[in-house]
Amino acid sequence: MLRRRRRFVLDRPSKNCDPVLTIHSNSSALGDLLKSVFGFDGFRANQREVCEAAVAGHDLLLVMPTGAGKSLCYQLPAIARGGTALVISPLIALMEDQAAKLTGMGLRVARIHSGLERSVARQACVDYLQGSLQFLFIAPERLRVSGFPEMLRKGKLALIAIDEAHCISQWGHDFRPDYRMLGQYLPALRDAGSEAPVLAMTATATPSVQADIVAQLGMIEPALFIHGFRRDNLAIEVVELATPQRGAAIARLLAKPERRPAIVYATSRKQAEVLAGELSQSQPGNVHRGRGISAAPYHAGLDAEKRDRVQTAFQAGSLDVVVATIAFGMGIDKADIRTVIHAGLPATLEGFYQEIGRAGRDGAMSRTFLMHSYADQRTHDFFLNRDYPPIEHLSEVFRVVDDQPRDVEELRERAKLSDEEFDRALEKLEIHGGARVDFGVGITRGGPDWKKTYRVQAQYRADQFAKVLRFTEQNECRMSALVRHFGDVEDAGRPCGVCDVCDPAGAVLRLFRRASLAEMALVEKIVEELRGVEYKASGTLQRSLDAVGRMSRDDFEKILNAMVQAGMVEIENAEFEKDGQVLRFRKVRLTKRGAAMRGMAVEALLIGDGIVEEFGGSGGSPRRSRKSNSAGRDEQVSAGGVKRQATARPIRSSAECEALAARIKDWRGEESKRLRMPAYMVLHDRTITVLAQARPKTPRELLEIDGIGPMKVERFGQELLRICAEEQT
Ligand SMILES: [Zn+2]
Repeated sequence: MLRRRRRFVLDRPSKNCDPVLTIHSNSSALGDLLKSVFGFDGFRANQREVCEAAVAGHDLLLVMPTGAGKSLCYQLPAIARGGTALVISPLIALMEDQAAKLTGMGLRVARIHSGLERSVARQACVDYLQGSLQFLFIAPERLRVSGFPEMLRKGKLALIAIDEAHCISQWGHDFRPDYRMLGQYLPALRDAGSEAPVLAMTATATPSVQADIVAQLGMIEPALFIHGFRRDNLAIEVVELATPQRGAAIARLLAKPERRPAIVYATSRKQAEVLAGELSQSQPGNVHRGRGISAAPYHAGLDAEKRDRVQTAFQAGSLDVVVATIAFGMGIDKADIRTVIHAGLPATLEGFYQEIGRAGRDGAMSRTFLMHSYADQRTHDFFLNRDYPPIEHLSEVFRVVDDQPRDVEELRERAKLSDEEFDRALEKLEIHGGARVDFGVGITRGGPDWKKTYRVQAQYRADQFAKVLRFTEQNECRMSALVRHFGDVEDAGRPCGVCDVCDPAGAVLRLFRRASLAEMALVEKIVEELRGVEYKASGTLQRSLDAVGRMSRDDFEKILNAMVQAGMVEIENAEFEKDGQVLRFRKVRLTKRGAAMRGMAVEALLIGDGIVEEFGGSGGSPRRSRKSNSAGRDEQVSAGGVKRQATARPIRSSAECEALAARIKDWRGEESKRLRMPAYMVLHDRTITVLAQARPKTPRELLEIDGIGPMKVERFGQELLRICAEEQT
């Protein structure tokens, strides 16, 4: 028998395949099947290539967003190859949904999962062995049932499709241990004579997750298809908004009937409950007459029956808004969701993309909002530190354990850690093999290799969140940034035209205003500074134009961002290594357009200026609320006629800086007395000098000052900001 040829193909699978299979992979034959079985006249983008590779027997990894027609990519090849397609799916709801659709098309389908009678499972096995099934759906844990894999080997498998394959990877955001052991069973199944190819499918997998899936499943030279991440009908808006303001902003956003149905993602069960309550009580107002908003929370703390009720009501259209934690939505198939709101920072961009991807599956324009503030960052840091205690704590536990089994009490006493610290460190040490915990026996020392894997995993989690932060700070088109993140570099170059970066005037929550005279003058100086040089780092640029440091970094970046919007400059994120540390900076380059611009053109600059008042953006200065998101630029410009105090800050004399520095020193003296700590441990003199010059207004700005880390912001931030603000009035 001919060995199936497998080769590594990127995007474009080889057309060479075994003679036996050539008939099936013949394009017109596939097209006929597509029409006769599925009723489609033609393939959607990328489907044909994937189907041909699968029919030819290639293993393949398919990373395609939800709604791009992924299911057809295993269903059509399964029919073309003959035999039974084994479909492994982690969620009963997904399984039931797909099985029902295929049955409705007249195909022979069975499924086996814990929600069904045993007799149903038995019958499915009988049908499978008789060769009368085209599709057999199973949950991953079924493979652990003794005798089941052996039974599968006796039938003829057309292919093995693994749905939601990212759950296999520990780097994936929905890691499921049951899925991880799939790799153990696959070789036996596929070598049972049928040589079934393995098709791993997911809507979300970064390059590292992709590699992990391939390795875990033992896929051999798989063809990779990564396509279709761009969504033309999603307008993404990222807005900085304090946590207490979010409820009101969301209620106002969703008061408009055309923005519903909607999903709001909350970061905790408590937030989900609170927001759902606020939404239900909110009145749509006179402008939008009609019924109020119906909203319900959905999270893992509710019982299954309640969750089902919410999901069913939402699916059926009798519930407008679901306020959910990440537990919601994997099995949701609702085409007309108009708005997805994140009421806090998501932990990963994969999760974020998957969640916003639930909007607008009907193809109609939909908006998504990501709300964030410095507080979210702190929450994540807190969780990260809690989930990944310092490596020194693990080392300390590792130090006190030995080959002699000992009980926890004894070890706790030996270790120089609090009980809580000890327990957390021990837990991690055990996971990574540095300690063995045998109940009833005691704790013994494990292998020495725990450090490496622990470091890698902790770092990976931190990096993922850092990417989310960078996404919020970037001034690149939001959609392009996401498409690039998912590895589709080819498609990342085209701006979407509808996000808050591409189209500031179309933003709903974010407010943009016209540049002030002073800012326009600065813009002209920036242009002159950049003329004739290849690029300048943004920090250098700011220092050379604003030597006194009276403008905050944020305000300067806002102006640069506005210049990017206007096509005057380009900004590239770059990094270099110094003393083993990676330092990031931004290269600012003048564009041709920027070089040609002078005077009047600068007036058209729109500068990000908080949020629209209607949604709770009060700020210090009066601002007119925007009438509608279709309001033209002129409308915005007049709306922004009033300058924000921050950017129009008067020039400070050095005497004023010294006065502020003196006040901060007074405060420091009292604080160090109170804390019984040397003054320099509260704040260094040089930090105070910089503080007095920079006059930070937000915790984020405070954090940018040398000598002030997150701990200091946490501890002294409020006081310091108060003192700085006092000086300004
Ligand atoms: Zn865009």
